[in-house]
Amino acid sequence: MIDTSMKAMQVVQVGQPLVGMEVPTPSPNPDQLLLRVRVCGVCRTDLHVADGDLTEPKLPVIPGHEIVGEVVALGSSVTGFSIGQRVGVPWLGHTCGTCPQCRSGRENLCAAARFTGYQIDGGYAQYTVADARFCFAIPDAYSDAQAAPLLCAGLIGYRALMMAGDAQVIGIYGFGAAAHIVAQVARYQGRVLYAFTRPGDQAAQRFARELGASWSGHSGERPPQPLEAAIIFAPVGSLVPAALEATAVGGTVVCAGIHMSDIPSFPYRILWGERTVRSVANLTRKDGEEFLALAPKVPVRTEVESFALGEANEALARLRQGRIRGAAVLNCE
Ligand SMILES: [Zn+2]
Ligand SMILES: [Zn+2]
Repeated sequence: MIDTSMKAMQVVQVGQPLVGMEVPTPSPNPDQLLLRVRVCGVCRTDLHVADGDLTEPKLPVIPGHEIVGEVVALGSSVTGFSIGQRVGVPWLGHTCGTCPQCRSGRENLCAAARFTGYQIDGGYAQYTVADARFCFAIPDAYSDAQAAPLLCAGLIGYRALMMAGDAQVIGIYGFGAAAHIVAQVARYQGRVLYAFTRPGDQAAQRFARELGASWSGHSGERPPQPLEAAIIFAPVGSLVPAALEATAVGGTVVCAGIHMSDIPSFPYRILWGERTVRSVANLTRKDGEEFLALAPKVPVRTEVESFALGEANEALARLRQGRIRGAAVLNCE
């Protein structure tokens, strides 16, 4: 039984709180699945959409791109999915399939890509539609709530970790949802992990050590030994020179967020020595398949704080203040 209307939390105007409203339940086009949303993870990117840091949203838009849902209807062209199946919907929602990036395994860089919860309505709602070709099967080992953070925090974190190459000593700046997953994968791979948090955030520093960091401190501190790679999850540009200062010659600083405040100028000597600064953008479907196969083997355990769908503004406020341990998820049923 599919309801004809649904509750949704929408960004109507950027810079304003999300607005809860009753809207028509969408119907799937030929390539789409109609999903009853069980849970949707809350990602920092949702804050950037709501705040207007990302400048090309459709408005109004239903945010949310860590969607765990149950298939309740299938578009006429969809194959390989069945009613009742549990699926995950990530950030990457559409690509052109024909541009040089799409044809070379870099669909994350497709100029015509569209993204869930930004240019396509997402999962802060009771139902959503998603292009079946971009949906993932979810490993059985995970509950709905524990699976949700894998779909962005996990995938993007995994891609960022891959960009760190074979670095054995890794520093993570910003210990939120992505970091708490990456830390477990990095330790599983036998790497040494150091965690950097906001000054005074003892709770996050303790959490990082519980998850395998052998040292944790604040972002201005020097780790016990130089980093071979750094991954910056916090959206703070001044962390780029801070991470470069902590990184050994030949090392890489990976900027994993979709938005960052301006990076202050810095002396060339901290980049000298063949250090690299690079960004990580979006995800490919291959990243998703690889990571969702790896996660149960580690096994990655996600820590979640659950909120009701109608509490989305509260969840976003807590995320902004750094007051979420692990990841926040909305119960949408
Ligand atoms: Zn393309
Ligand atoms: Zn995200």
